[in-house]
Amino acid sequence: MKAAVLYGKEDVRLEEIPVPSPGAGEILIKIHSALTCGTDLKIFRNGSHARMLKPPVLFGHEFAGTIERLGPEVTGWRIGQRVVAANSAPCRRCFYCKKNQPNLCENLLFVNGAYAEYLLLPARIVEENLLEIPPKLSSQAAALTEPLACVVRGIQVIRPAKGETVAILGAGPIGLMFLQLAVGSGARVILVGKGKKRLQAAQHSGAETVLDLAKLSDPIEAIRQATPEGKGPDLCIEAVGRPQAWTQALSLVRPGGRVLLFGGCPAGTQVPLDTHRVHYDELSIFSVFHHTPETIRQALKYLSDGTVRADLLVTRQAPLRDLPDILRQMLTDQDAVKTAIIPS
Ligand SMILES: [Zn+2]
Ligand SMILES: [Zn+2]
Repeated sequence: MKAAVLYGKEDVRLEEIPVPSPGAGEILIKIHSALTCGTDLKIFRNGSHARMLKPPVLFGHEFAGTIERLGPEVTGWRIGQRVVAANSAPCRRCFYCKKNQPNLCENLLFVNGAYAEYLLLPARIVEENLLEIPPKLSSQAAALTEPLACVVRGIQVIRPAKGETVAILGAGPIGLMFLQLAVGSGARVILVGKGKKRLQAAQHSGAETVLDLAKLSDPIEAIRQATPEGKGPDLCIEAVGRPQAWTQALSLVRPGGRVLLFGGCPAGTQVPLDTHRVHYDELSIFSVFHHTPETIRQALKYLSDGTVRADLLVTRQAPLRDLPDILRQMLTDQDAVKTAIIPS
């Protein structure tokens, strides 16, 4: 089969490798769509991922496809079924799993290698996080289940309510998914970000105000001015993953407001914390990581019932051979939201 192999920094090669054979409890799926993601871009830029991958290695972790082969002892699934799976599964046995925080599992088992014609799913992912795609939902849309599940985890924590003003920092796929869910819960959303197509997607997703970061000298002030009485948003969601954006989110939210620091920053980075403000302005500060089997299921529901529109998030398709070029292009131009890589 053809597969994209990561060799190191900005070095991805298409290679012919053997199709894996499913062992006990495992399932081989034929990939229909594998979506590009900011995490893959970070992996491409750095040449590895501390928790998930060491090169040479297959990568790509947002995917949907059809079941090609069943390993021994697999029950409840059949060949030809359209499926989507999460990129990880918790162990159900560790300290955090027992506390019902499976996203923090100490033995989280990851699967990578979706930029290929076939992908072998480990038994634990088959058991915990493999779902059938409902008939009316396209595989391309279903492939959004994993990133959306991370966003659903964030929404569970900060719970935007009807009539609240929500500011979202970042117009990437994550910011745009937060936007759709916040609008769905009746909040008024101000989104600030970069990239013409991404900002257009924000407009089409129902944002009340869309601000182009490239045109603002003082983004904090511009956002504040768009909020009732200029007090700042009730809720601020950081979806950038840079310390500077974390700082902006903390300074932007109104007294009594809630902040969700969502984007993962590089290891070792820090932000200053205005202790006086956190106390006297009674700020509630949250952060979330990854997804749970519950949010994976909720995400697929949101895609199936139209709560989240996939067409505003997956904006183009490309064959597998174009992946190296697309990743290189994403390093400098992040205008397209997500690309669906179609391996065959
Ligand atoms: Zn991702
Ligand atoms: Zn665990």
